[in-house]
Amino acid sequence: MENMILQLSYLIGSITFIMGLKMLSHPESARKGNIVAAVGMTIAIFATIFLFKDANGQGLHNFVWIFAGLAIGTVVGTLAAKRVQMTAMPEMVSLFNGMGGACAMLISMVEYHHMQHSGVASGTGTMVVIVLGMVIGTVSFAGSIIAWGKLNGSIKDRTIPAGQILNFLILGGIVVLSCMVIGGMSTGQSLFYGIAILAAMYGILFVMPIGGADMPVVISLLNSFTGCAAAFGGFLYDNPVMLTGGILVGSAGTILTILMCKAMNRSLKNVLIGSFGGAKAAGPAGAKEQGAYKEISLNDTATLMAYASKVMIIPGYGLAVAQAQHTCHELEKVLNEKGVEVIYGIHPVAGRMPGHMNVLLAEADVPYEKLLEMEDANDQMGGTNVVLILGANDVVNPAAKEDPSSPIYGMPILEVEKAEHVIVNKRSMKPGYAGIENELFFRPKSSMLFGDAKKVLQSLVSELKSM
Ligand code: NDP
Repeated sequence: MENMILQLSYLIGSITFIMGLKMLSHPESARKGNIVAAVGMTIAIFATIFLFKDANGQGLHNFVWIFAGLAIGTVVGTLAAKRVQMTAMPEMVSLFNGMGGACAMLISMVEYHHMQHSGVASGTGTMVVIVLGMVIGTVSFAGSIIAWGKLNGSIKDRTIPAGQILNFLILGGIVVLSCMVIGGMSTGQSLFYGIAILAAMYGILFVMPIGGADMPVVISLLNSFTGCAAAFGGFLYDNPVMLTGGILVGSAGTILTILMCKAMNRSLKNVLIGSFGGAKAAGPAGAKEQGAYKEISLNDTATLMAYASKVMIIPGYGLAVAQAQHTCHELEKVLNEKGVEVIYGIHPVAGRMPGHMNVLLAEADVPYEKLLEMEDANDQMGGTNVVLILGANDVVNPAAKEDPSSPIYGMPILEVEKAEHVIVNKRSMKPGYAGIENELFFRPKSSMLFGDAKKVLQSLVSELKSM
């Protein structure tokens, strides 16, 4: 009976994960989706704690350890999620992803240890699952910690001399040692932990040189790694809910990685051997002032927009920093009242996490239909009178199309120069995430509107209201 309830709980857990994931695909249902999946996870956790029985009919014990872990995790997770600034969210997601990888790594290590001490020979299948879970989990853990450091600026992009060859050698070493452990050629623990060390080195070395504008790809890849590692844990424990959760994260992460690769015009092979973007792209040192740019006043901007028939707003990371999404929506409403059509052009890697701009604008109740994906936005650019760029930089940099030596060369961009007027709002001439000069700012159609996005938008709204 107890086992039946346990299996039913796992089924409920699996179904809620699938429903939650589906609901996450739309901003309006995303919040509910999160709750639905969290409820499913809670059911699965408590059912396991109280109803699981091993082959000898023994339930779990060590409740003090289990509940202490649960309590600490809940407090830390809740506080971190509540306190995090919206702009620091990608770092937190990366860190949490790394924790998932670490869990998978530890599960494999503990199970390997058990096997060693139980004296019962395990099948090749089990060994494959243990080793794969440990390798992928460790790569994900080490890589995510480096990604976390890069996103918060504490770790700089570094190209390692002969890095690609080194990565190949390490991968080769992991494969050879794994075959030896799985094939039973070594029964000691040193070889197993040797693989863990190599996997950690690979995770660090493959993320370390990735920089410029390529971080989104590596973040979604690490996410899919964690999912796969968790799925191996599900295999190991014959736990269907863990398996479903892992497969869902793994496959969603893989699809996102492929989409991100397409959006950035990169190949997955290059991500895996850690060979794109890179240190040469990063840091303000990469930027140099060139030519003259023209400035536009608030009054002229308001006039230009008030007499436009179509305005496209291009949001970027700066909009999130300024927390100007609500004021941005207000500007849209004021312009609508004046008969101006307002749409948004959303670049897939704008901001610092996949879907960042969609989440930000949904928070301010901007209607979802107004958010155009990059291809649709580019199609509508020709008929747009004014493009207002709010704290975006790399995603509108023409070097991606025109300069083969640029680290972002090949990344599709929002082709704002097809519009009649381009107004760029940012605080200075400093570069964006990729650390490179943006020639758009010096082009004849462009005008700079300097200032913090929120303050500028507030002033624009007042100007427009008084017109
Ligand atoms: P960028 O980082 O290229 O540029 C943001 C701009 O916003 C800066 O140039 C900055 O200029 C300006 N800014 C900062 N604060 C403010 C403010 N308060 N008010 C007005 N402007 C401000 O952003 P994009 O969104 O164009 O591009 C995203 C970049 O991040 C891409 O390179 C992408 O690859 C990368 N990335 C994306 C991830 C994702 O998943 N989406 C993950 C990791 C990286 P100034 O300082 O002069 O104000």
